[in-house]
Amino acid sequence: MSYSVADGAAFEGKMAIVTGAASGIGRAAALRLVKEGANVALFDLDHDRTKTAEMEMNSIRPGAARAFEVDISDPIRVEKAVLEAVELFGGLDIVFANAGINGVVAPIEEISIEDWRRTLATNLDGTFLTMKYTVPHLKKRGGGSIIITSSINGNTRFTSFGMSPYSASKAAQSAFAKMAALELAKFRIRVNVICPGAISTNIDDSTMKTEGLKEIIIPVEFPEGGQPLADGPGQPEQVADLVCFLASRQSSHITGAQIVIDGAESLLF
Ligand code: NAD
Repeated sequence: MSYSVADGAAFEGKMAIVTGAASGIGRAAALRLVKEGANVALFDLDHDRTKTAEMEMNSIRPGAARAFEVDISDPIRVEKAVLEAVELFGGLDIVFANAGINGVVAPIEEISIEDWRRTLATNLDGTFLTMKYTVPHLKKRGGGSIIITSSINGNTRFTSFGMSPYSASKAAQSAFAKMAALELAKFRIRVNVICPGAISTNIDDSTMKTEGLKEIIIPVEFPEGGQPLADGPGQPEQVADLVCFLASRQSSHITGAQIVIDGAESLLF
């Protein structure tokens, strides 16, 4: 299924910032935006992988992508990178606030304050900072679309019992987005949240390594046989389809929405 206009140039003349663009969902969405005509600033911590993504996208259309090494929890760096990106591409229309981590996975009493703060700083502060510094540019443009990646773990499916900081950060992102949608509607800036279920990316690499942890604190496993709509987890490209729909004219009357994309995974629990 594709929501883009048939000429493949749905986003011609548009400029986007994508955070977490070096990998997974962010990378797939940035690639799709480039293929459909947008210029995209790729924000990520992982500079090498962001440069590789930049090269791939510029081989499709030279100059379409630019890599920025950004820690989205660092206000000074976010502000500077947003300014540089907007100057480079001459404006801003689309913001995909997507960078995130699973963070610490542990029983509550074993979570250190540093680990708690790191998860919230990346997932929640990062979303706030991305919006704080991009909204003025969307206002200047007379409107735009902001899409935020939350998770089914932030609203409907609390099965990963060791991931309380992650769930808290993801639920807070959704609440923040609803307030922002109300506040920004009069500026014709739409704000929507996507809630993926399990998607096949690198995100688990950093968190699920601890020996035996999964058995101890995550008693409910990923559904046997996969999500009802698929054999396994969803693919980043399927999420990119939704992101492009929410960035496009075809969703012009949708704001403050929270859209689950999980192949019915959350309906199993
Ligand atoms: P991923 O690990 O493949 O990509 C995330 C990217 O974010 C990485 O390139 C990483 O370097 C970057 N990043 C992490 N911390 C950062 C920081 N402080 N500043 C800048 N960049 C940073 O994972 P993904 O699955 O594509 O995750 C994207 C989003 O999707 C996250 O917000 C995640 O919580 C959400 N999500 C993922 C799943 C899933 O199953 N994969 C499910 C629900 C929600």
